[in-house]
Amino acid sequence: MAKANTVFVCSNCGNESSKWFGKCPACNEWNTCYEEKLTSKTNSKSGTKKVATPVKLNEVKKQDIVRTSTGFTELDRVLGGGLVKGSLTLVGGEPGIR
Ligand SMILES: [Zn+2]
Repeated sequence: MAKANTVFVCSNCGNESSKWFGKCPACNEWNTCYEEKLTSKTNSKSGTKKVATPVKLNEVKKQDIVRTSTGFTELDRVLGGGLVKGSLTLVGGEPGIR
């Protein structure tokens, strides 16, 4: 079993570490560390590599498109609700020139 597939998590505050800790560096609690296997858990924190699962084309649903809000209401509307993961969107134009 590969060591890289394991992460150590604090049961008190949820702090994640690649190494085992006796005292949590985040909340300073002792013996709250437990080992967690990285499987299908989706956690975007701390650069954990996501493994993409291949999906058959006829099983791809349109609803699976996740749009991420850019934080700009106007831009979100132009993009159709936000940025689509994996897509490339070029945003250009200069204000005042039409
Ligand atoms: Zn903690």
